[in-house]
Amino acid sequence: MKYISTRGAMAASDFSEILLGGLAPDGGLVVPREYPQIDATTLQSWRGLGYGELAFEVLSRYVSDIDAADLRAIIARTYTAEAFGSEEITPVLELEPGLHLLRLSNGPTLAFKDVAMQLLGNLFEYVLAREGRSLNILGATSGDTGSAAEYAMRGKQNVRVFMLSPDARMSAFQRAQMYSLCDPNIFNIAVTGVFDECQDLVKAISNDLAFKSRHAIGTVNSINWARVAAQVVYYFKAWFAVTTGSDEQVSFSVPSGNFGDVLAGHIARMMGLPIATLVVATNENDVLDEFFRTGCYRVRRASETWATSSPSMDISKASNFERFVFDLLGRDPDRLSSLWLRLANEGSFDLAGSADFASIGRFGFASGTSRHADRIATIRRVHERYGVVVDTHTADGLHVAQSHRVAGVPMICLETAQPVKFAAAIREALGEEPPRPSAIVGLEERAQRFTRMPADVRLLKRFIAERCV
Ligand SMILES: *Cc1c(COP(=O)(O)O)cnc(C)c1O
Repeated sequence: MKYISTRGAMAASDFSEILLGGLAPDGGLVVPREYPQIDATTLQSWRGLGYGELAFEVLSRYVSDIDAADLRAIIARTYTAEAFGSEEITPVLELEPGLHLLRLSNGPTLAFKDVAMQLLGNLFEYVLAREGRSLNILGATSGDTGSAAEYAMRGKQNVRVFMLSPDARMSAFQRAQMYSLCDPNIFNIAVTGVFDECQDLVKAISNDLAFKSRHAIGTVNSINWARVAAQVVYYFKAWFAVTTGSDEQVSFSVPSGNFGDVLAGHIARMMGLPIATLVVATNENDVLDEFFRTGCYRVRRASETWATSSPSMDISKASNFERFVFDLLGRDPDRLSSLWLRLANEGSFDLAGSADFASIGRFGFASGTSRHADRIATIRRVHERYGVVVDTHTADGLHVAQSHRVAGVPMICLETAQPVKFAAAIREALGEEPPRPSAIVGLEERAQRFTRMPADVRLLKRFIAERCV
């Protein structure tokens, strides 16, 4: 398996070469040259595999240059009952016949991003040791990515983490989870601005190739290819959990922000997993819903990016979306580049009326928007009906899923975080505190360590240069 760029100007590369990088050198996103195909016989032969074995089958098709035994060992170290709460790693709960919850948030930071990030921590450590290198990870987070990255990288040799987060835009719990980490290789930077300004700072540094190579800057934000690949695994796992035959279709509803999680579903579908519909559920920041309904992709300004009660989906542009549009355009890097040039110049592009958009149905996407009142009502309804407390993001997915259910096709809703991370909304919906896992009792009372900084790339560069490995 070789990797190329959506913009067409990167030499075909191996997995280890792209693992530690962010954007491709031409400014595009790294994608596999083709999607490995899993035929029905192979798929059926994977039924009954444990999570780690299944992860090896899926990931070994993307990891070109890590010894198979080493990859197995890395996967086995990562996906343990100790780290993820059960042998199943991502258990599926039936809420009612035809409606399921894929539980992805039992890792160390109680959000689905752990599933990919814990693997990334071990992959980074392995490749850095093999090559005698060190790495300074720069990332932007609207909450869950940052803590997942920090918990994956804390204490790792030859790795430092510089994590930008939007000051005062995260829940008290999210802040405590990140800022209470005192490992000396972890640096939390609270930027006075919104998430997209954090992301722009990361992009500015990623585009400064001299600075990037001088300080060995890498990234773990949601454009990291290995993260997307790791997420593909649980779509397979969930499909096995709710089907018995090899051609049974299922649908997924995915609470979406940067389009990383649902992109993994798209890739699973492109590999041949029988997925009927991939429901893209957004909150009030509905850039993606607008695109799938109208063909117009219109990024929002910071002033038009709402702070919502599902904050990990508060984005104004979806950083992984370019990977899907690449497929939509028949993987034509020239047309992709000109669309993204228009996006940079005009803030939008419109595919309505194009042959590409007319045929978008072949990718199986549907979409919808969930607002504050919808997610509160959903949390209440799910609690009353099934005795399960879900968080606000998961509630967005469940709400939007309701209008896309089809008789005979199981709908699997991705649970992306534990409700304890968003306690205020749970109190509003249920009038009670969310269940609190014992590992995090007293978290908010722990001492916090972070640096506050304006959205200024020169200040950030100086901070990193003084502290990197
Ligand atoms: C990151 C996140 C999302 C959105 O996932 P994307 O991959 O960015 O689309 C949804 N819910 C929670 C809880 C998250 O942390």
